[in-house]
Amino acid sequence: MKYIFISMFLNSFRILACFIFFAFSSQLSAEWQTEDEAIMGTTIRVEIWHADADVRQKGIDKVLAEMDRVNRLMSPYIEQSQLSKINKYAHEGPIEVDQDLFELIEKSIEFSQLTNGAFDITYASVGHLYNYRKEIKPTEEEVAAAKLLIDYKNLVLDKHQLSISYLKHGVKIDLGGIAKGFAVDQSIQHLRNLGIKHALVSAGGDTRLLGDRRGRAWLVGIRDPANTEEVIVMLPLQDEALSTSGDYERFFIEDGEKYHHIIHPTTGNSASEVRSASILASDSTTTDALSTSIFVMGPDKGLALLNILEGVEGVIVDKQGKLYYSQGLEKEQKKSQNSSNSNSSVK
Ligand code: AMP
Ligand code: MG
Repeated sequence: MKYIFISMFLNSFRILACFIFFAFSSQLSAEWQTEDEAIMGTTIRVEIWHADADVRQKGIDKVLAEMDRVNRLMSPYIEQSQLSKINKYAHEGPIEVDQDLFELIEKSIEFSQLTNGAFDITYASVGHLYNYRKEIKPTEEEVAAAKLLIDYKNLVLDKHQLSISYLKHGVKIDLGGIAKGFAVDQSIQHLRNLGIKHALVSAGGDTRLLGDRRGRAWLVGIRDPANTEEVIVMLPLQDEALSTSGDYERFFIEDGEKYHHIIHPTTGNSASEVRSASILASDSTTTDALSTSIFVMGPDKGLALLNILEGVEGVIVDKQGKLYYSQGLEKEQKKSQNSSNSNSSVK
């Protein structure tokens, strides 16, 4: 993997991260097509290059249909979704589900094992008691009782039956930390199947790039969590996935306390060590799950994990605004600093 740091501290560079997509990837020829749509409680963006307009349109339609399919299968807010059905009945006995849902739950458990329980889809046993839009939170007593149900080991998976059951009544799961990444990966596969070689698919904080922008890298910005209209790091990427988890995405403040959507499985409260975690890897399922995990783990444990994972890099911003880079990114940063220093000494 190779990253060139355009600029590390762009605090004076006032650009919205999403604006970067417009500014740098707004397409230079009529062979690009772009679509924005609200699905899965977030903004879906698709950019496709193909010489044939029919193929471009097919690509856009496929991506939007896939996002919709995943949402209808896995949303905890849709009563008829298979995920809602598990949450309602899996404590009574095994519930059979579609292969995609089964495999994503299986993968979530692998991430729980990898992250020592920082990523745990049973966080929802507490998480469902929050409504960030309506500024509703559970009492301390409710959190204390419900957090005892957070443990991915309460999930029993039967690979042959493709069924899930819960060991305890009251356990709930939510795939909000991984499903968007999965949907992005599925979408990229659909685009590949159509013969598309240059595309961007993003679902909220999860972005995956197929190829480059026809001879140039895609420029993707990481927002400053202290001022989300600014960008702190900008990375030129191709054939890569990038996910950011931030405490500014879904939250409310009460009595000076911030209640946001990423829950520390041990405490049952919002994880509080960092403000954002951004992860780079080759697929979005991995970057999505790991950005949520590293957010929970904090800089020390988070970097230690990133540095042993092959092909995964990350940037963490802590409470004080300090930036931490994984070893691979740090090397690239130093290289690009050295080359810009030697360039300026020539001048
Ligand atoms: P992201 O923006 O990808 O970090 O995802 C945040 C979402 O992940 C939240 O809205 C929850 O649905 C889910 N989530 C929160 N805490 C956890 C956790 N500890 N493990 C797994 N998923 C979580
Ligand atoms: Mg995530």
